[in-house]
Amino acid sequence: MSKVIIIGAGGVGNVVAKKCAQNDEVFSEVLIATRTVSKADKIVAEIHEHFPNSRAVFSTRAVDADNVPALVELFREFQPELVINVALPYQDLTIMDACLEAGVHYLDTANYEPRDVAKFEYSWQWAYRERFEQAGLMALLGCGFDPGATNVFTAYHAKHHFQAIEYLDIVDCNNGNHGKAFATNFNPEINIREITANGRYWDNGNWVETRPLEISQDIYYPKVQTRTSYVLYHEELESLVINFPTIKRARFWMTFGESYIRHLNVLEGIGMTSIEPINFRGQQIAPLEFLKAVLPAPESLAENYTGQTCIGVQAKGIGKDGQPNVHFVYNVCDHAATYKEVQAQGVSYTTGVPAMIGAMLMLQGIWQKPGVYNVEEFDPDPFIDAMNRWGLPVDQLGGIELVRD
Ligand code: NDP
Repeated sequence: MSKVIIIGAGGVGNVVAKKCAQNDEVFSEVLIATRTVSKADKIVAEIHEHFPNSRAVFSTRAVDADNVPALVELFREFQPELVINVALPYQDLTIMDACLEAGVHYLDTANYEPRDVAKFEYSWQWAYRERFEQAGLMALLGCGFDPGATNVFTAYHAKHHFQAIEYLDIVDCNNGNHGKAFATNFNPEINIREITANGRYWDNGNWVETRPLEISQDIYYPKVQTRTSYVLYHEELESLVINFPTIKRARFWMTFGESYIRHLNVLEGIGMTSIEPINFRGQQIAPLEFLKAVLPAPESLAENYTGQTCIGVQAKGIGKDGQPNVHFVYNVCDHAATYKEVQAQGVSYTTGVPAMIGAMLMLQGIWQKPGVYNVEEFDPDPFIDAMNRWGLPVDQLGGIELVRD
């Protein structure tokens, strides 16, 4: 029975909170702390409506997660064992600082990104290793789906199917339809920054840079469809090539529809995706932040969303028997089913469920050691078992190469 604080009450925060409500053997008291407290209140009202039998006790509080003293005060007052950070990547370091000061474990789903530079990497958070170790605290980084479950799938390949993984392809397909002309499935600002940046993949010990969406391939996603997929840089590549040094090439692929790319090209062409502030009627505003305010909120897409997501990891290399091997581990998640269960679309669901699972494993002491860790550094089996139990069934396909060289 554990007390936790969830920071952030957006699409992902909603799912984490409702999964904690379902898993009341582990989560006994949950405080949802966020900037706009009415969003947290709405989540708690829905929990009372949809999960009336949950024994977990929920409360809410307004907090500015950029403000370390305010966070420390809140943590000292509520005394959680763990903070689940599902606010934005900009808040990772302030929340880690507050965890260290108040003596609380930490988990997030996205690596730190400074607000004024579109650049994300783990170096800032890995720099906290010694301080967490010395404090006897644990920080688990990137425990959503990608990063998160994809790191677990890679560790699972290494544990059960390969002596040496040589080629790693992470594939992320959203085959859903929300009926809007243009919208992003998670925070638009973070999402558009990720997609409009140059692509990058690992090749024989070096990062190879590409223009945005330069490399594409038609990939078959089991149980879903064949979809054109594009190489982008994604944060889990950074830790995976370090933790699995036999990897010669590692790539990340994501699907985008033609209409999505057309809209994005126009928005980029007219400067709406820029993070450089401009002066508008005496006020400094970044066009991308303004665009975020105009676009549909990700959580508002949930109600009429149809179709599925399919996210998985293909590994190729030397199998356990010394022979060449190729293997795919994946999950398919249905948008309408997740809406029915927790009033969320599949992208929020596939992120929120692994965050709850990571928190559970830490609180149960199954994944627990002082320091700062990426998800693949722990035994993947209890995580996969929990995915099967908590709504993200894991499938496998052996011997077929879905992603070509
Ligand atoms: P949303 O924009 O829907 O929600 C973010 C929440 O954080 C909002 O409630 C927002 O408050 C709150 N917030 C923002 N700034 C602050 C602050 N300074 N203090 C307190 N609260 C704050 O985002 P999502 O729920 O879609 O995504 C949440 C996180 O999950 C992001 O970091 C995202 O990158 C990550 N993610 C990870 C994925 C993975 O697979 N690993 C996939 C998808 C997302 P307000 O309501 O006032 O705006």
